[in-house]
Amino acid sequence: MSMEMEWDDPMYRSTVALFERTAESMDLDPNIRRRLRYPDRAIITTFPVRMDDGRVESFHGYRVQHNNTRGPFKGGLRYSLDVNLGEVTALAMLMSVKCAVMGLPLGGAKGGVRVDPSKLSRAELQRLTRRYTTEIINDIGPESDIPAPDMGTNEQTMAWIMDTYSQMKGHAVPAVVTGKPVSVGGSLGRGQATGRGVVYMVMDAARHLGMDLGEKTTAAVQGFGNVGMHAARKLHKMGVKVVAVSDVYGAIQNPAGLDIRALKRWVNKHGKVAGFPESEPLDPAHLVELPVDVLIPAAIGGVINEKNVQKLRCRILAEGANGPVTAAANEVLRETRDVFVIPDVLANAGGVTVSYFEWVQGLQSFFWSAKEINQRLYQIMSKSFHEVIDVAARRKVDMRTAAMMHGIGRMEEAMKLRGLFP
Ligand code: NAD
Repeated sequence: MSMEMEWDDPMYRSTVALFERTAESMDLDPNIRRRLRYPDRAIITTFPVRMDDGRVESFHGYRVQHNNTRGPFKGGLRYSLDVNLGEVTALAMLMSVKCAVMGLPLGGAKGGVRVDPSKLSRAELQRLTRRYTTEIINDIGPESDIPAPDMGTNEQTMAWIMDTYSQMKGHAVPAVVTGKPVSVGGSLGRGQATGRGVVYMVMDAARHLGMDLGEKTTAAVQGFGNVGMHAARKLHKMGVKVVAVSDVYGAIQNPAGLDIRALKRWVNKHGKVAGFPESEPLDPAHLVELPVDVLIPAAIGGVINEKNVQKLRCRILAEGANGPVTAAANEVLRETRDVFVIPDVLANAGGVTVSYFEWVQGLQSFFWSAKEINQRLYQIMSKSFHEVIDVAARRKVDMRTAAMMHGIGRMEEAMKLRGLFP
């Protein structure tokens, strides 16, 4: 069986296609090119969990460690029915590139469990998380691989992982995960970091394009979870009109702008955006096609594809989600250039950047103020944004290719300097 078949998944194929195209245009060393196509290590585990009614169910879990040349593996943990080896591997590759684009001393990894977390009770989720942690216990650690939240997981999940790991080691090890609650060693600002970072990148893009971000600016946000909600909230606070929002259950719109604070209270109470009083229902498929200044896909991968890419009417596309644009759609965007794309490895890197801050704070047991965190976050992201803009101008390539070139170039340099063992 070819290696490719093991990772047969649309997102893996799309990510490898992007990697190969970038490798070609930057003339990447062929040995490094062959290595980076695949992860360093992929763990697949099937494990049992006792459900509340007494039944025992089996779950499939993954942890894929892509490359740690620049530092320990780092990456989120996803709970979703779509999780498979190919998707987790693609996401791990993107993490390696993202950490390198941001200049963080970290490598890339990703994990996941194939489960619909909304169907499990809190007690079941806790048992599943603890058992998954024990399955990968020898492969994670503050110096080796540090998980964080992603789709379907949150700070509670991280607290359970930290507790399980600490119980097994016999002492508290807060730095084994990031995205923990502040009361067990988490960082201020981590919860908001990805959404806030997306908006920082929109601000820099608007400045670059000579656009004003104010009351006349409109935005649409797909997904109202950790990333989408915080991005929408920050835009709303800045006076931008967020005219449409969606979640897995449906979409809503209000051309005059949605009150995001009130919407958040509604979602906390009702569990979904649909039915929010000051809004009209919207066909969720149409959200990405709305004529807005800023479009933020912040849910799942592959939502902008061959079928709808020609219908995009946004000026800035800021990728809150990982891999929201398929390889085929990306080719169309590259050619038309009407849409300014802030690629995922740049746009949503605020999460891993504050995770890095959390890890550093945890290792030193010395904590920073929220103001310090947000200032350092903006500094790092804005520096990376301008580095990518420079690569795009110098190499005459689009933003996604430029970001990939920048990140892969840094990995290539580190791999060559470290050399080959033995
Ligand atoms: P989350 O679980 O907190 O929220 C996901 C949201 O997307 C929910 O509102 C859900 O209802 C919605 N959703 C799911 N399927 C949908 C669909 N088909 N259409 C519309 N909405 C849908 O997840 P999150 O942490 O906000 O992650 C969202 C995306 O951002 C993922 O691609 C993730 O990899 C990426 N990301 C997250 C972080 C982070 O720090 N959490 C960092 C970088 C990137």
